[in-house]
Amino acid sequence: MSVSTVLADRSLAAPLPVLGRDVTVPLVTGGEVAYAALDYAASAPALQRVWDDVAAYAPYYGSVHRGAGHLSQLSTDLFENARTTVADFLDCRSGDQVVFTRSTTDSLNLLAHALPAGCRVYVFETEHHASLLPWRDADVTFLDAPRTPRDAVRILERALADRSPSPGSRPRPAGAGHDGPALVCVTGASNVTGELWPVRELAAAAHAHGARIVLDAAQLAPHHPVSVRDLDVDWVAFSGHKLYAPFGSGVLAGRADWLVEAEPYLAGGGASRRVARRADGGVEVEWHAGAARHEAGSPNVIGAYAVASACRALSDAGFASLVAREQDLLARVRAGLAEVPEVRVLSLFGDDAPRVGVLSFVVEGWNSSHFAAALSAEYGIGVRDGLFCAHPLLRTLLGGDPQTQGECGAPEAAPGERSLNAIRVSFGAGT
Ligand code: PLP
Repeated sequence: MSVSTVLADRSLAAPLPVLGRDVTVPLVTGGEVAYAALDYAASAPALQRVWDDVAAYAPYYGSVHRGAGHLSQLSTDLFENARTTVADFLDCRSGDQVVFTRSTTDSLNLLAHALPAGCRVYVFETEHHASLLPWRDADVTFLDAPRTPRDAVRILERALADRSPSPGSRPRPAGAGHDGPALVCVTGASNVTGELWPVRELAAAAHAHGARIVLDAAQLAPHHPVSVRDLDVDWVAFSGHKLYAPFGSGVLAGRADWLVEAEPYLAGGGASRRVARRADGGVEVEWHAGAARHEAGSPNVIGAYAVASACRALSDAGFASLVAREQDLLARVRAGLAEVPEVRVLSLFGDDAPRVGVLSFVVEGWNSSHFAAALSAEYGIGVRDGLFCAHPLLRTLLGGDPQTQGECGAPEAAPGERSLNAIRVSFGAGT
């Protein structure tokens, strides 16, 4: 058995109706083959239904919130209804806000911008850079890589206990500990190992210590229902392009208070309710209190509409059957790879840990980038190689120092050099 035999099984590619046709690619060995997209964790091709919805709406759009004309009204309705659809999809609480952003990265940067003064942020070093980096100007505590989900909860609890006095404990000396606002940022499913994180338990630990929690659901939302209410998270962020909508739209949903108290993420029209010149020559602004506060400028209405369409498509398909299919694909690939002695599948929490349809591995004796390039050129199989924008995690999983090797994508290494990057296969939910 070889890796290419395992991955060349065309039935692994989810039968998503993408653009209504198969994509064929030329092979270096001659001929053509139907392209096998096994890189849904990077971006999931938009569903035909999403394209159809967008195409049906596209000729009619107008500027939202600003026009009296019919098309402006229609667009405003579609935009605001998209917010409601996303809130339903995420099972938000009443009073939660849905802000449309450009991506998960944008959503988390927006929340970082809205942190109250003196907020301390807790984040595992194993996070995707989108979850790791937005807080670097804040008072941030990076938590060690846990080796089990239970370990993750313990590490967080220990860090938070250091912060807040336990009930009945003696008052701390001035300056010791931190009793101000705090935020925990955690991913729901790893973009590298696919492993599920114990979000509900982490949320309970955060809340028990008076902290809040934001869930990076970039990899979770396409594979699992996400209930803000059940998980009891304060915010959730995800990207449209990983959820079968096109690029350019994302979501930050959750509690309104920190968002309403913050200065707008972008200053400009749409975010302001009233603007006037002051007597001293300056400008006085009253900002919106709703989601519009952080959506200045003309928003990406089609993007928001596409995200809502994808949410509806996933809800209609039902996650139970999507998850079952994906787990079947995962099990087949894992079983195949287990027969290749040179393959090592990467895992933080151990082989039996539950995961979504995302799996990374290294092939002994191979540079992962060269291996991935060969899979594409010789077999028409599209996988991802590199460090997956999670350098500290890759360092833990592979050993060595991948940080010196390049950015998110494929770092260069001489032929025969030990591979400090990995190969990732990821599946999409068939509909
Ligand atoms: N978080 C996780 C877990 C991801 O996998 C990704 C993208 O790969 C992101 C955040 C960032 O998503 P985006 O690039 O859409 O902002």
